[in-house]
Amino acid sequence: MRPLPEKLGEKLCMWYDAGHRELPWRQDKEPYHVWLSEIMLQQTRVEAVKGYYARFLSELPTIKALSDCPPDRLTKLWEGLGYYSRVWNLQKAAKVIMDEHGGAFPETYEAVRALPGVGDYTAGAICSICFERPTPAVDGNVLRVLSRVMEDGAPVTNQKTKTAYREALLPLYEAGSRGKLTQALMELGAMVCVPNGAPKCEICPLRDVCLANAHGTWEKYPVKEAKKAKREEEKTVFYLTCDGCLAVRKRENKGLLAGLWELPNVEGKLDAAQALSFAEKAGCEPAELLKSVERVHVFTHIIWRMRCYYIVCKEKSPEFVWASDARRKTDVALPTAFRMFVEEEI
Ligand code: SF4
Repeated sequence: MRPLPEKLGEKLCMWYDAGHRELPWRQDKEPYHVWLSEIMLQQTRVEAVKGYYARFLSELPTIKALSDCPPDRLTKLWEGLGYYSRVWNLQKAAKVIMDEHGGAFPETYEAVRALPGVGDYTAGAICSICFERPTPAVDGNVLRVLSRVMEDGAPVTNQKTKTAYREALLPLYEAGSRGKLTQALMELGAMVCVPNGAPKCEICPLRDVCLANAHGTWEKYPVKEAKKAKREEEKTVFYLTCDGCLAVRKRENKGLLAGLWELPNVEGKLDAAQALSFAEKAGCEPAELLKSVERVHVFTHIIWRMRCYYIVCKEKSPEFVWASDARRKTDVALPTAFRMFVEEEI
């Protein structure tokens, strides 16, 4: 890897000072706020996170409140954000902070990194932004920017590359501007050296030192290793209603969407007669099959190809929990893979 250009940190910090987005989690350096925003922003766009962030903090304004929140309410606050292990880990970490740190957010990189759900990037971001520690935070944005600046062909999906970039950035983390440098790199990756489409080199503070800009090679970087093909699964989902209530059940506490609510479903695609027979055998006394729809949901490693049957029933079989509208609004959070059927026009 080539050395980073001189004054890279200074250029970034000056550019950041000259103007950046005002984001809710940049209003203060409260570690709970920065931590929550970083976890929400993993896999989720800034615009989508803003509303969730405000709702979450207005209901759970302190780490203690997060630690004490009932699980179904917590899932409800996260409903639609996906990757639910993030919110379970937030609560586990909140309990660790209450039990082992007396309720005060830890201030060393090692202690922050040891919290459930906190990786190198998040620990680096929290410690540099909130505590001015020399802890570079290397995520996809930073990898993209630096691989272009240096025309570095090392695969950014590789842990060794991340470690090498972190070490290369370390000397740039000068006292007094550490948090700013982390945020400037994030901002540049989000607004200028963007992930999709052409980077805006003409307004980039690094344009004079960036090799990809000098040679017009930005499309070649970052280099990623080929991803494994996703596994595909077929499913039949049941939208069973009775007296205005919807049949739901809890998933197992392990594997994909562990412990979350779901609509009843079985492996494979059933035809209409088989679907009605399923409802009959479950003790729901199906009265009317309203319609069926086909939908696809893509997870990180798996694709679900689903057929959903909408069936009005006469019996509330004890095999399921029958959730009223009111209950669904407060403490039955369905993951997107199932919620899309609830949002369907019937
Ligand atoms: S000059 Fe262009 S390619 Fe280089 S870092 Fe800036 S936006 Fe990215």
